[in-house]
Amino acid sequence: MRSETQLDILLADPHLAPELKNIAQKVKNSERITFDEGVLLFEKGELGYLGTLANYIREKKNGDYTYFNRNFHIEPTNLCVYDCKFCSYSRLIKQRSEGWEFTMDEMFDMVKKYDGKHVTEVHIVGGVLPQYDFKFYTELFSKIKAHRPELHVKALTPVEYHYIFKKAKLSYAEGMRLMKEAGLESMPGGGAEIFHPDIRNQIAADKCTADQWLEIHEEWHKLGMRSNATMLYGHIESFWHRIHHLEELRKLQDKTGGFQAFIPLKFRNKDNQMSDVAEVSVVEDLRNYAISRIYLDNFDHIKSYWAMIGRVTSQLSLAFGVDDIDGTIDDTTKIYSMAGSEEQHPAMSTEELVELIKHVNRHPIERDTLYNTVTDYMNYDFSAEQKEAGFISLPVIQ
Ligand code: SF4
Repeated sequence: MRSETQLDILLADPHLAPELKNIAQKVKNSERITFDEGVLLFEKGELGYLGTLANYIREKKNGDYTYFNRNFHIEPTNLCVYDCKFCSYSRLIKQRSEGWEFTMDEMFDMVKKYDGKHVTEVHIVGGVLPQYDFKFYTELFSKIKAHRPELHVKALTPVEYHYIFKKAKLSYAEGMRLMKEAGLESMPGGGAEIFHPDIRNQIAADKCTADQWLEIHEEWHKLGMRSNATMLYGHIESFWHRIHHLEELRKLQDKTGGFQAFIPLKFRNKDNQMSDVAEVSVVEDLRNYAISRIYLDNFDHIKSYWAMIGRVTSQLSLAFGVDDIDGTIDDTTKIYSMAGSEEQHPAMSTEELVELIKHVNRHPIERDTLYNTVTDYMNYDFSAEQKEAGFISLPVIQ
Protein backbone atom coordinates (compact mmCIF):
# COMPACT_ATOMS: atom_id res chain seq x y z
CA MET A 1 0.00 0.00 0.00
CA ARG A 2 1.70 3.23 -1.14
CA SER A 3 0.06 5.26 1.64
CA GLU A 4 1.71 2.99 4.23
CA THR A 5 5.14 3.80 2.80
CA GLN A 6 4.32 7.50 2.93
CA LEU A 7 3.23 7.18 6.56
CA ASP A 8 6.47 5.31 7.43
CA ILE A 9 8.53 8.07 5.79
CA LEU A 10 6.63 10.64 7.84
CA LEU A 11 7.18 8.68 11.07
CA ALA A 12 10.91 8.58 10.35
CA ASP A 13 11.10 12.36 9.88
CA PRO A 14 13.35 13.73 12.67
CA HIS A 15 11.85 17.22 12.26
CA LEU A 16 8.27 16.20 12.97
CA ALA A 17 7.00 17.62 16.33
CA PRO A 18 6.70 14.82 18.94
CA GLU A 19 2.98 15.38 19.54
CA LEU A 20 2.26 15.10 15.81
CA LYS A 21 4.46 12.01 15.56
CA ASN A 22 2.50 10.50 18.43
CA ILE A 23 -0.77 11.02 16.53
CA ALA A 24 0.75 9.56 13.35
CA GLN A 25 1.84 6.49 15.31
CA LYS A 26 -1.67 6.10 16.71
CA VAL A 27 -3.06 6.19 13.18
CA LYS A 28 -0.56 3.54 12.12
CA ASN A 29 -1.63 1.38 15.10
CA SER A 30 -5.36 1.97 14.36
CA GLU A 31 -5.78 3.67 17.74
CA ARG A 32 -8.40 6.33 18.32
CA ILE A 33 -7.23 9.92 18.75
CA THR A 34 -8.53 12.09 21.61
CA PHE A 35 -10.51 15.34 21.57
CA ASP A 36 -7.38 17.39 22.36
CA GLU A 37 -5.42 15.62 19.65
CA GLY A 38 -8.19 16.46 17.19
CA VAL A 39 -7.94 20.15 18.08
CA LEU A 40 -4.15 19.93 17.79
CA LEU A 41 -4.48 18.58 14.26
CA PHE A 42 -6.50 21.66 13.30
CA GLU A 43 -4.05 23.99 15.01
CA LYS A 44 -0.75 22.46 13.96
CA GLY A 45 -1.26 19.84 11.25
CA GLU A 46 -0.02 21.09 7.90
CA LEU A 47 -1.64 19.90 4.72
CA GLY A 48 0.92 17.28 3.65
CA TYR A 49 1.02 15.69 7.11
CA LEU A 50 -2.78 15.52 7.38
CA GLY A 51 -3.09 14.15 3.84
CA THR A 52 -0.63 11.35 4.61
CA LEU A 53 -2.59 10.26 7.70
CA ALA A 54 -6.02 10.58 6.09
CA ASN A 55 -4.97 8.81 2.91
CA TYR A 56 -3.55 5.92 4.92
CA ILE A 57 -6.91 5.45 6.68
CA ARG A 58 -8.83 5.93 3.43
CA GLU A 59 -6.82 3.26 1.62
CA LYS A 60 -6.98 0.90 4.58
CA LYS A 61 -10.77 1.18 4.69
CA ASN A 62 -11.63 1.53 1.01
CA GLY A 63 -8.48 0.97 -1.06
CA ASP A 64 -8.63 3.06 -4.22
CA TYR A 65 -12.36 2.62 -4.54
CA THR A 66 -14.20 5.88 -5.11
CA TYR A 67 -17.96 5.71 -4.96
CA PHE A 68 -20.74 7.59 -6.66
CA ASN A 69 -24.37 6.86 -7.41
CA ARG A 70 -26.94 7.69 -10.06
CA ASN A 71 -29.47 9.88 -8.36
CA PHE A 72 -31.72 12.88 -8.72
CA HIS A 73 -33.04 15.37 -6.20
CA ILE A 74 -36.51 16.68 -5.46
CA GLU A 75 -36.66 19.91 -3.47
CA PRO A 76 -40.33 20.31 -2.52
CA THR A 77 -40.02 23.99 -1.56
CA ASN A 78 -37.50 26.71 -0.91
CA LEU A 79 -39.81 28.48 1.52
CA CYS A 80 -39.17 27.82 5.16
CA VAL A 81 -40.59 28.72 8.53
CA TYR A 82 -37.07 28.83 9.96
CA ASP A 83 -34.52 31.56 9.52
CA CYS A 84 -31.02 30.06 9.54
CA LYS A 85 -28.54 32.88 9.08
CA PHE A 86 -26.30 30.93 6.69
CA CYS A 87 -29.12 29.79 4.42
CA SER A 88 -28.98 31.13 0.86
CA TYR A 89 -31.74 28.83 -0.23
CA SER A 90 -34.80 29.66 1.78
CA ARG A 91 -37.07 32.44 0.69
CA LEU A 92 -38.93 33.28 3.87
CA ILE A 93 -42.66 33.42 3.66
CA LYS A 94 -42.47 37.19 3.13
CA GLN A 95 -40.38 36.60 -0.03
CA ARG A 96 -42.90 34.15 -1.40
CA SER A 97 -42.67 35.54 -4.93
CA GLU A 98 -39.15 34.10 -5.24
CA GLY A 99 -40.16 30.73 -3.92
CA TRP A 100 -41.59 27.49 -5.22
CA GLU A 101 -43.96 25.01 -3.62
CA PHE A 102 -44.37 21.80 -5.58
CA THR A 103 -47.58 19.87 -5.29
CA MET A 104 -47.75 16.11 -4.77
CA ASP A 105 -48.55 15.65 -8.48
CA GLU A 106 -45.66 17.83 -9.60
CA MET A 107 -43.24 15.85 -7.46
CA PHE A 108 -44.62 12.57 -8.66
CA ASP A 109 -44.19 13.77 -12.27
CA MET A 110 -40.52 14.45 -11.48
CA VAL A 111 -40.16 10.82 -10.42
CA LYS A 112 -41.96 9.58 -13.53
CA LYS A 113 -39.59 11.61 -15.72
CA TYR A 114 -36.95 9.01 -14.79
CA ASP A 115 -39.04 6.01 -15.81
CA GLY A 116 -36.87 3.63 -17.82
CA LYS A 117 -33.71 5.55 -16.90
CA HIS A 118 -30.91 4.10 -14.82
CA VAL A 119 -31.17 5.90 -11.46
CA THR A 120 -31.09 4.14 -8.11
CA GLU A 121 -31.97 6.89 -5.65
CA VAL A 122 -34.26 9.87 -5.20
CA HIS A 123 -32.99 12.39 -2.65
CA ILE A 124 -35.79 14.55 -1.22
CA VAL A 125 -35.03 17.54 0.97
CA GLY A 126 -36.11 21.18 1.12
CA GLY A 127 -37.57 23.90 3.32
CA VAL A 128 -40.07 23.42 6.15
CA LEU A 129 -43.69 24.49 5.64
CA PRO A 130 -46.89 23.45 7.44
CA GLN A 131 -48.55 21.84 4.40
CA TYR A 132 -45.65 19.42 3.94
CA ASP A 133 -46.79 17.44 6.92
CA PHE A 134 -46.92 13.83 8.08
CA LYS A 135 -49.81 12.94 5.77
CA PHE A 136 -48.18 14.60 2.77
CA TYR A 137 -44.83 12.87 3.05
CA THR A 138 -46.12 9.43 3.99
CA GLU A 139 -48.39 9.61 0.94
CA LEU A 140 -45.54 10.79 -1.31
CA PHE A 141 -43.17 8.03 -0.15
CA SER A 142 -45.87 5.35 -0.58
CA LYS A 143 -46.72 6.63 -4.03
CA ILE A 144 -43.10 6.59 -5.19
CA LYS A 145 -42.51 3.07 -3.84
CA ALA A 146 -45.73 1.77 -5.42
CA HIS A 147 -44.70 3.23 -8.77
CA ARG A 148 -41.04 2.19 -8.72
CA PRO A 149 -40.23 -0.21 -5.87
CA GLU A 150 -36.50 -0.45 -6.62
CA LEU A 151 -35.93 3.32 -6.41
CA HIS A 152 -34.38 4.04 -3.00
CA VAL A 153 -36.13 6.86 -1.13
CA LYS A 154 -33.61 8.93 0.85
CA ALA A 155 -35.52 11.79 2.36
CA LEU A 156 -35.79 14.64 4.85
CA THR A 157 -33.60 15.56 7.78
CA PRO A 158 -34.35 15.72 11.51
CA VAL A 159 -35.16 19.41 10.99
CA GLU A 160 -38.20 18.38 8.96
CA TYR A 161 -39.02 15.29 11.03
CA HIS A 162 -38.91 17.21 14.31
CA TYR A 163 -41.38 19.77 12.90
CA ILE A 164 -43.63 17.16 11.28
CA PHE A 165 -43.80 14.88 14.33
CA LYS A 166 -44.46 17.75 16.72
CA LYS A 167 -47.36 18.89 14.57
CA ALA A 168 -48.70 15.32 14.29
CA LYS A 169 -48.18 14.75 18.05
CA LEU A 170 -45.98 11.73 17.43
CA SER A 171 -42.88 10.64 19.33
CA TYR A 172 -39.68 10.42 17.30
CA ALA A 173 -39.69 6.63 17.65
CA GLU A 174 -43.26 6.25 16.43
CA GLY A 175 -42.85 8.85 13.70
CA MET A 176 -39.76 7.21 12.24
CA ARG A 177 -41.42 3.80 12.38
CA LEU A 178 -44.38 5.11 10.38
CA MET A 179 -42.09 6.84 7.88
CA LYS A 180 -40.31 3.54 7.33
CA GLU A 181 -43.62 1.81 6.87
CA ALA A 182 -44.56 4.42 4.23
CA GLY A 183 -41.41 3.73 2.18
CA LEU A 184 -38.60 5.84 3.64
CA GLU A 185 -35.36 3.88 3.28
CA SER A 186 -32.62 6.19 4.49
CA MET A 187 -31.99 9.65 5.82
CA PRO A 188 -29.57 12.22 4.39
CA GLY A 189 -27.21 14.03 6.76
CA GLY A 190 -28.41 17.64 6.61
CA GLY A 191 -29.51 19.99 9.37
CA ALA A 192 -26.61 19.12 11.68
CA GLU A 193 -24.79 22.45 11.06
CA ILE A 194 -22.63 22.88 14.19
CA PHE A 195 -23.90 21.09 17.27
CA HIS A 196 -22.38 23.28 19.98
CA PRO A 197 -25.09 25.63 21.32
CA ASP A 198 -22.75 28.66 21.40
CA ILE A 199 -22.65 28.53 17.61
CA ARG A 200 -25.95 26.82 16.81
CA ASN A 201 -27.89 29.48 18.73
CA GLN A 202 -26.29 32.18 16.61
CA ILE A 203 -26.74 30.63 13.17
CA ALA A 204 -29.75 28.30 13.46
CA ALA A 205 -31.50 29.20 16.69
CA ASP A 206 -35.06 28.16 16.01
CA LYS A 207 -34.85 24.73 14.40
CA CYS A 208 -34.24 21.38 16.09
CA THR A 209 -31.43 21.27 18.65
CA ALA A 210 -28.32 19.14 18.39
CA ASP A 211 -29.76 16.64 20.89
CA GLN A 212 -32.97 16.36 18.89
CA TRP A 213 -30.99 15.88 15.66
CA LEU A 214 -28.97 13.10 17.25
CA GLU A 215 -32.03 11.49 18.86
CA ILE A 216 -33.93 11.25 15.58
CA HIS A 217 -30.94 9.56 13.92
CA GLU A 218 -30.67 7.22 16.89
CA GLU A 219 -34.33 6.22 16.63
CA TRP A 220 -33.87 5.62 12.90
CA HIS A 221 -30.78 3.48 13.48
CA LYS A 222 -32.67 1.47 16.11
CA LEU A 223 -35.02 0.40 13.33
CA GLY A 224 -31.99 -1.11 11.58
CA MET A 225 -31.85 1.73 9.07
CA ARG A 226 -28.95 3.84 7.82
CA SER A 227 -28.29 7.55 7.53
CA ASN A 228 -25.55 10.09 6.83
CA ALA A 229 -24.19 13.00 8.85
CA THR A 230 -22.92 16.46 7.93
CA MET A 231 -21.16 19.46 9.48
CA LEU A 232 -21.38 23.03 8.20
CA TYR A 233 -17.87 24.42 8.69
CA GLY A 234 -15.86 27.50 7.91
CA HIS A 235 -17.91 30.39 9.36
CA ILE A 236 -17.92 31.65 12.96
CA GLU A 237 -17.00 28.39 14.67
CA SER A 238 -13.61 27.61 16.24
CA PHE A 239 -11.63 24.47 15.57
CA TRP A 240 -12.71 22.94 18.86
CA HIS A 241 -16.39 23.40 17.92
CA ARG A 242 -15.70 21.22 14.88
CA ILE A 243 -14.07 18.56 17.04
CA HIS A 244 -16.96 18.76 19.51
CA HIS A 245 -19.29 18.12 16.55
CA LEU A 246 -17.24 15.14 15.33
CA GLU A 247 -17.06 13.80 18.89
CA GLU A 248 -20.88 13.79 19.21
CA LEU A 249 -21.14 11.88 15.94
CA ARG A 250 -18.41 9.42 16.92
CA LYS A 251 -20.21 8.71 20.21
CA LEU A 252 -23.54 8.02 18.54
CA GLN A 253 -21.85 5.87 15.91
CA ASP A 254 -20.22 3.80 18.68
CA LYS A 255 -23.69 3.23 20.06
CA THR A 256 -25.64 2.45 16.89
CA GLY A 257 -23.27 1.94 13.94
CA GLY A 258 -26.01 3.38 11.73
CA PHE A 259 -24.12 6.16 9.96
CA GLN A 260 -22.71 5.39 6.54
CA ALA A 261 -20.97 8.57 5.43
CA PHE A 262 -19.85 11.85 6.90
CA ILE A 263 -20.12 14.88 4.61
CA PRO A 264 -18.40 18.15 5.54
CA LEU A 265 -20.37 21.05 4.03
CA LYS A 266 -18.51 24.25 3.28
CA PHE A 267 -20.14 27.52 4.35
CA ARG A 268 -20.77 29.70 1.30
CA ASN A 269 -21.51 33.40 1.77
CA LYS A 270 -23.61 34.33 -1.26
CA ASP A 271 -27.04 35.87 -0.63
CA ASN A 272 -27.46 35.08 3.03
CA GLN A 273 -27.40 36.89 6.37
CA MET A 274 -23.74 35.98 6.90
CA SER A 275 -22.37 37.44 3.69
CA ASP A 276 -19.84 39.47 5.67
CA VAL A 277 -18.17 36.25 6.87
CA ALA A 278 -15.32 35.26 4.56
CA GLU A 279 -15.22 31.75 3.12
CA VAL A 280 -12.33 29.48 4.02
CA SER A 281 -9.71 28.48 1.44
CA VAL A 282 -9.46 25.24 -0.51
CA VAL A 283 -6.50 24.32 1.71
CA GLU A 284 -8.77 24.57 4.76
CA ASP A 285 -11.38 22.44 2.95
CA LEU A 286 -8.79 19.73 2.40
CA ARG A 287 -7.48 19.93 5.98
CA ASN A 288 -11.06 19.59 7.21
CA TYR A 289 -11.71 16.51 5.06
CA ALA A 290 -8.49 14.95 6.31
CA ILE A 291 -9.12 15.61 10.01
CA SER A 292 -12.68 14.32 9.68
CA ARG A 293 -11.27 11.10 8.18
CA ILE A 294 -8.74 10.78 11.00
CA TYR A 295 -11.16 11.57 13.84
CA LEU A 296 -14.17 9.54 12.70
CA ASP A 297 -12.48 6.15 12.92
CA ASN A 298 -15.87 4.40 13.12
CA PHE A 299 -17.29 5.89 9.90
CA ASP A 300 -16.77 3.86 6.72
CA HIS A 301 -17.03 6.73 4.25
CA ILE A 302 -16.18 10.42 3.93
CA LYS A 303 -17.98 12.17 1.13
CA SER A 304 -17.33 15.42 -0.73
CA TYR A 305 -20.23 16.87 -2.68
CA TRP A 306 -18.75 17.76 -6.06
CA ALA A 307 -21.83 19.90 -6.71
CA MET A 308 -20.89 22.09 -3.76
CA ILE A 309 -17.10 22.34 -3.89
CA GLY A 310 -16.57 21.93 -7.63
CA ARG A 311 -15.01 19.16 -9.68
CA VAL A 312 -11.34 20.01 -9.11
CA THR A 313 -11.51 20.31 -5.30
CA SER A 314 -13.49 17.12 -5.34
CA GLN A 315 -10.67 15.38 -7.21
CA LEU A 316 -8.15 16.77 -4.73
CA SER A 317 -10.24 15.62 -1.78
CA LEU A 318 -9.74 12.01 -2.92
CA ALA A 319 -6.16 12.28 -1.61
CA PHE A 320 -7.36 13.71 1.74
CA GLY A 321 -9.57 10.96 3.11
CA VAL A 322 -12.59 11.22 0.80
CA ASP A 323 -13.79 8.05 -0.95
CA ASP A 324 -17.22 9.18 -2.23
CA ILE A 325 -18.13 12.13 -4.43
CA ASP A 326 -21.92 11.68 -4.50
CA GLY A 327 -23.98 11.28 -7.61
CA THR A 328 -24.85 12.33 -11.13
CA ILE A 329 -27.55 14.68 -9.68
CA ASP A 330 -28.78 15.72 -13.14
CA ASP A 331 -29.15 19.44 -12.34
CA THR A 332 -31.95 18.71 -9.88
CA THR A 333 -30.68 20.63 -6.86
CA LYS A 334 -30.49 24.36 -6.26
CA ILE A 335 -29.19 24.25 -2.66
CA TYR A 336 -25.53 24.64 -3.61
CA SER A 337 -25.82 26.88 -6.66
CA MET A 338 -27.94 29.40 -4.72
CA ALA A 339 -25.24 29.53 -2.05
CA GLY A 340 -22.57 30.45 -4.60
CA SER A 341 -21.08 27.09 -5.54
CA GLU A 342 -18.77 26.84 -8.56
CA GLU A 343 -21.31 24.45 -10.10
CA GLN A 344 -24.31 26.51 -11.16
CA HIS A 345 -26.03 23.65 -13.04
CA PRO A 346 -24.74 20.51 -11.36
CA ALA A 347 -25.08 17.51 -13.64
CA MET A 348 -22.49 14.97 -14.73
CA SER A 349 -22.91 11.97 -16.93
CA THR A 350 -21.68 8.68 -15.55
CA GLU A 351 -18.84 8.76 -18.09
CA GLU A 352 -17.72 12.21 -16.88
CA LEU A 353 -17.80 11.11 -13.23
CA VAL A 354 -15.82 7.99 -14.06
CA GLU A 355 -13.21 10.03 -15.98
CA LEU A 356 -12.93 12.51 -13.12
CA ILE A 357 -12.16 9.68 -10.69
CA LYS A 358 -9.78 7.82 -13.00
CA HIS A 359 -7.90 11.04 -13.74
CA VAL A 360 -6.55 11.00 -10.17
CA ASN A 361 -5.76 7.27 -10.27
CA ARG A 362 -8.71 6.07 -8.24
CA HIS A 363 -11.05 3.18 -8.96
CA PRO A 364 -14.63 4.27 -9.87
CA ILE A 365 -17.47 2.24 -8.40
CA GLU A 366 -21.11 3.01 -8.93
CA ARG A 367 -22.82 2.14 -5.66
CA ASP A 368 -26.40 2.01 -4.51
CA THR A 369 -27.43 4.08 -1.48
CA LEU A 370 -26.27 1.35 0.91
CA TYR A 371 -22.84 1.00 -0.73
CA ASN A 372 -23.51 -2.22 -2.59
CA THR A 373 -21.60 -2.23 -5.88
CA VAL A 374 -23.81 -1.63 -8.90
CA THR A 375 -21.05 -1.40 -11.54
CA ASP A 376 -17.28 -1.49 -11.38
CA TYR A 377 -16.19 1.11 -13.95
CA MET A 378 -12.43 0.51 -13.87
CA ASN A 379 -12.31 -1.27 -17.21
CA TYR A 380 -15.74 -0.37 -18.46
CA ASP A 381 -16.20 0.23 -22.19
CA PHE A 382 -18.58 3.15 -22.68
CA SER A 383 -18.27 2.97 -26.47
CA ALA A 384 -19.84 -0.50 -26.40
CA GLU A 385 -22.78 0.92 -24.44
CA GLN A 386 -23.21 3.72 -26.99
CA LYS A 387 -23.02 1.31 -29.91
CA GLU A 388 -25.63 -0.87 -28.30
CA ALA A 389 -27.92 2.09 -27.73
CA GLY A 390 -27.27 4.02 -30.93
CA PHE A 391 -26.58 1.66 -33.85
CA ILE A 392 -28.65 -1.04 -35.48
CA SER A 393 -26.58 -3.70 -37.24
CA LEU A 394 -27.37 -4.02 -40.92
CA PRO A 395 -27.85 -7.36 -42.67
CA VAL A 396 -24.70 -8.53 -44.41
CA ILE A 397 -25.00 -9.62 -48.04
CA GLN A 398 -22.76 -12.63 -48.59
S1 SF4 B 1 -31.17 25.79 6.35
FE1 SF4 B 1 -33.01 24.54 6.11
S2 SF4 B 1 -34.17 24.90 7.98
FE2 SF4 B 1 -32.69 26.57 7.83
S3 SF4 B 1 -33.78 28.23 6.75
FE3 SF4 B 1 -32.66 27.04 5.20
S4 SF4 B 1 -34.17 25.56 4.46
FE4 SF4 B 1 -34.94 26.32 6.44
